[in-house]
Amino acid sequence: MKIFILTFGCKVNQHESQQTANQLLSLGHQVVGQVDEAELVIVNTCTVTQVADKKSRQMIRHVARHHPLAKIIITGCMPENPMTPIDVLSGSEIVLKGELAAYLSTLPSPQLLATSSTSQGRIRRTLLIQTGCDYYCSYCIIPTVRHGRVSFPQNKILHDFKLLVSEGVKEIVLTGINLGTWQEDDRNVSDLVETLLDVNGDFRIRLGSLEPNLVNEKLLALMGDHPRLATHLHVPLQGAANTLLKRMNRRYSLEDYLALCDKVAAAKRPIQLTTDLIIGYPEETDAEFEGALNLIETGLFLDVHAFAYSVRQGTVAASKPQLAPSLVRERMKRILVAIEDAKKKALRAMQGKRATILVETIQEGQATGYTEGYVKVMIEATGITKNRFVEVVFGAPLLIGKEWGLKGTV
Ligand code: SF4
Repeated sequence: MKIFILTFGCKVNQHESQQTANQLLSLGHQVVGQVDEAELVIVNTCTVTQVADKKSRQMIRHVARHHPLAKIIITGCMPENPMTPIDVLSGSEIVLKGELAAYLSTLPSPQLLATSSTSQGRIRRTLLIQTGCDYYCSYCIIPTVRHGRVSFPQNKILHDFKLLVSEGVKEIVLTGINLGTWQEDDRNVSDLVETLLDVNGDFRIRLGSLEPNLVNEKLLALMGDHPRLATHLHVPLQGAANTLLKRMNRRYSLEDYLALCDKVAAAKRPIQLTTDLIIGYPEETDAEFEGALNLIETGLFLDVHAFAYSVRQGTVAASKPQLAPSLVRERMKRILVAIEDAKKKALRAMQGKRATILVETIQEGQATGYTEGYVKVMIEATGITKNRFVEVVFGAPLLIGKEWGLKGTV
């Protein structure tokens, strides 16, 4: 059967879609790259915000309307969220994520196709090490939808990690809903990373998003010392004022966060820091918003992902007084300008420095890839092959697709 998988949301969903694709390939199905070719479409939904719900719903309707012959499976987070009703259109069916693997194993089995080693997905793969979160940030539905925390056993992670390395995957991104809470007996996420770094092979490890209170000294020391651990930390700040952080029920103060930034800056190798900010959180004051703008202008971050707050029913924040949408839009515009300016400034400051990119694409004589610090770089493709580490010297900033990066030379 020809199957197309559409994925919304976070790295966990992407990882789960990848696992679904692997299962389908091992059952002899064909995972196709175009929805037009598909007999079955799996929509792996996200419910992190109401905007996410809307996007998933729109896509389900679009597929149903334009591909009436394809059967649609709706899975992922939306069906798990009691606050998110789903219209089951004709030709579509809801399958809870815990039941998806069993459901797929009942699909009519075709001739086995040897496709599990396609080049797609061999450059960077995610490895899920834990799931669930019990932090209950005021704006987030995830703890309600993904109950409790589960850390996958180190033995299983190590086995899967070695498998990816043996398949030629060059960058493995450790991911989880709240990655830094991984634990086995008295071992935490930095101990796990240390164990994985001891595996033989040509790879690098990148870490997914880590909560500020969970970045420990050992992790920073590993990043400073170990060339196979990518020097990039994505640490979501969300609000740049203590009053805001308290209302969001975050587990740190702005001072704690800035103290962490000082430790990051003192690491042996330069570590690039990126973050998330929510703009327009209920009752966000002018001063709280200006705090975010000022922080961006300090140049602390290589990049900031700013999200306009959107109401998520079932969360504490949903019952609070909301800002006018026009004010949120205006603040978003200002913050996006500040982010772009800060990113270009940070990139300009890197000119002349060296880094290693993993080549991901080659098109029209140009190769692109990301550095260990997660800077996108474009170089001349002569003599360059995909899925290889290449040392580069940074040149001037340039727009690569929709993302600001750097020109590089080998
Ligand atoms: S840490 Fe907060 S924002 Fe992140 S998943 Fe947990 S509750 Fe949601």
